[in-house]
Amino acid sequence: YEKEMTRLSELNLIGEMAAGIAHEIRNPMTTIRGFLQLSQNAGGRMDKEHVEMMLDELDRANSIITEYLSLAKNKQSDIRPTSLTRLLDSLYPLIQAEAVMSGKHVQIEYGECPDVSLDEKEIRQLVLNISLNGLEAMGAGGTLTIRTEEEGPDVVLSIADEGEGISEDNLTKLGRPFFTTKEQGTGLGLAVCYSIAARHRATIRVDTGSRGTTFSVRFPAWRSA
Ligand code: ADP
Ligand code: MG
Repeated sequence: YEKEMTRLSELNLIGEMAAGIAHEIRNPMTTIRGFLQLSQNAGGRMDKEHVEMMLDELDRANSIITEYLSLAKNKQSDIRPTSLTRLLDSLYPLIQAEAVMSGKHVQIEYGECPDVSLDEKEIRQLVLNISLNGLEAMGAGGTLTIRTEEEGPDVVLSIADEGEGISEDNLTKLGRPFFTTKEQGTGLGLAVCYSIAARHRATIRVDTGSRGTTFSVRFPAWRSA
């Protein structure tokens, strides 16, 4: 399957997310309140298991807020010609560390390509979000391959995993705020990526199958006028 991303209006996304946030934060609050109520009825005593569940819920709520802020806060993009090679070099140790912890490999293949107009902070986040998804999709080890290449007037950054792939049904939901198939997922990683891509006039294409998934981010190359 494949999916070509259409440009999401970032204002719509932020609005849609604000509405979702209220809902998503209320769920953990309800859970935590329930456990506290139980504890109160038991004279202040609390199961260790319940404490752990409450901490998990709080962590999840916290991640949701952090990811939402990272989208809403950085409204003023700082876009300048940047070398993708340098950007990926600086990200590699981070992704590599994450991969090694779960017995996976990361490989970067640099093609010759011109600089790209981008906001370094935002694109680092985009690469990181897609890469972490790729690593998470590979349950039993495998290699995450990050490539750059020049294609006509564009520069393409692709991130390929050897994971389980994405079903046709889930593919249509990709990038929707709060769509997640993970127990501890926020479902915000890709929504943030699509919004960042839209700000860069870049497109994200997803190719997926039983041998894994490739996300290709296509940037217009920077040309001096
Ligand atoms: P989260 O990672 O918190 O679930 P994301 O927005 O990053 O949220 O991803 C949303 C969903 O898209 C994931 O839960 C997963 O089902 C699917 N997904 C994203 N990337 C991949 C991938 N590389 N392989 C398989 N599924 C993926
Ligand atoms: Mg994610």
